[in-house]
Amino acid sequence: MEKKTLAYWQDKAATLKIEGRAFIDGAYREAYSGRSFECVSPIDGRVLANVADCGAADVDAAVAAARRSFNDGVWAGLNPRARKAILLRWAALMREHLDELSLLETLDAGKPISDTTSVDVPGAAYCVEWFAEAIDKVGGEVAPADHHLVGLVTREPIGVVAAVVPWNFPILMASWKFGPALAAGNSVVLKPSEKSPLTAIRVAQLAHEAGIPAGVFNVLPGGGEPGKLLGLHRDVDCIAFTGSTNVGKQIMQYAGQSNLKRVWLELGGKSPNIVLPDCPDLDRAANAAAGAIFYNMGEMCTAGSRLLVHRDIKDVFLAKLVEAAKAYKPGNPLDPDVSMGAIVDKIQMERVLGYIEAGRKDSKLLFGGERVNEATGGFYVEPTVFDTHHDARIAREEIFGPVLSVITFSTIDEAVRIANDSDYGLAAAVWTSNLTNAHEIARRLRAGTVWVNCYDEGGDMNFPFGGFKESGNGRDKSLHALEKYTELKSTLVRLR
Ligand code: NAP
Ligand code: MG
Repeated sequence: MEKKTLAYWQDKAATLKIEGRAFIDGAYREAYSGRSFECVSPIDGRVLANVADCGAADVDAAVAAARRSFNDGVWAGLNPRARKAILLRWAALMREHLDELSLLETLDAGKPISDTTSVDVPGAAYCVEWFAEAIDKVGGEVAPADHHLVGLVTREPIGVVAAVVPWNFPILMASWKFGPALAAGNSVVLKPSEKSPLTAIRVAQLAHEAGIPAGVFNVLPGGGEPGKLLGLHRDVDCIAFTGSTNVGKQIMQYAGQSNLKRVWLELGGKSPNIVLPDCPDLDRAANAAAGAIFYNMGEMCTAGSRLLVHRDIKDVFLAKLVEAAKAYKPGNPLDPDVSMGAIVDKIQMERVLGYIEAGRKDSKLLFGGERVNEATGGFYVEPTVFDTHHDARIAREEIFGPVLSVITFSTIDEAVRIANDSDYGLAAAVWTSNLTNAHEIARRLRAGTVWVNCYDEGGDMNFPFGGFKESGNGRDKSLHALEKYTELKSTLVRLR
């Protein structure tokens, strides 16, 4: 197949029709208030569309539609095989619309088109397929019980699931929620980030075309407000949230203030990537360390934002790392040869630049550090590396941008202590040739995912994904994700 060029994507962008309305009860609608907000592309600062700014009336309408569809059994009441068939059709439609969805995602979030076409959109379709394929194969249990009883342990859909998601992998993070939630038979209200609502809005129409009944899948764009209102809503049974730790804490409070809805949180990280002197391949480790923080402009919850490097190999390793960083040259994400696009918006870019300024005060800048391509009107920041110390602000707080903090250590115990001395516990990695050290360190690291001699691998659906500590609770992906969207029921039948 011929490789698509920058000109191809720019032409396609020029004629793209963009839907900005909410999707409620099977149809697109303006916000009840008539309010909208401008959806801006971080590539060049251009307004892409006016998007419905949903408020209380829209939230109530979407939740009511979801409740009605759930109670009617039009989805939950189907044989799982029937839900599977519809979900597979939906995923197929996402794949058929690969170019359009990828383009929307790139325009809206600034992500490289080479990633949105290969990771984000196919990944979302795959997630829907994976849970569709799983749902007609998972059964309940017949539990041991007294002879006069039959005891069943079954899982049932919870009811109305609200999914509130961030902007860094907009459609992919959303699919990690709606894939398992819909497969399990729930009705869903999805709230995308106001920074990146377009793909969520578009796939709603595809869901409808695939045969997902009205009310079962709703999309409510808007500022933080719909997220808060969903968190406080008494008729939402479960809220699955991916985003910052601060907002995650608020979501828990909303649940406590309202109906104790189930709360599942996938939150921030400050993940350590530990390189020991017996690292099997320093070149590969340096490339992986750069990818761990510069892929997706560093807007990754699992970003390896703390590089812990042993004193003995520090100089040679950092030289390789800086070389590897040069491969991430910010450019127009519509160009298929560009591997680093724009920061999602001006606010986030300024946040990142603020951290870089803070770093300049107490750390040594080794690479990058500047906003670039300003004449485009877009928001681009160079990959940036600081030699710093564990207590520096840039080494402790989640930046969510392309800024790496290098921390030096002398012993394994020190490395593990520094690695675990964080409020977060999402991911971690260690590089060593010593099998015993690898396993012992992996056990000691307090994180939901640990990589040994790699970073960010195992991207398929088989591994649960989520965090320890303030990185959240519950897990996305894998069959374990179904636990979040189902209630466990014991049914005891007395035979005589
Ligand atoms: P965020 O500011 O917490 O926002 C996440 C979502 O919550 C958005 O849809 C946002 O809407 C909404 N929201 C904002 N305020 C709210 C409130 N008071 N109540 C309810 N909802 C509210 O996070 P973000 O900046 O979009 O995303 C970056 C964060 O996500 C990082 O911390 C990152 O680590 C984390 N993340 C975690 C994972 C994981 O799996 N662990 C994956 C990806 C990202 P608006 O945007 O419209 O305000
Ligand atoms: Mg945007």
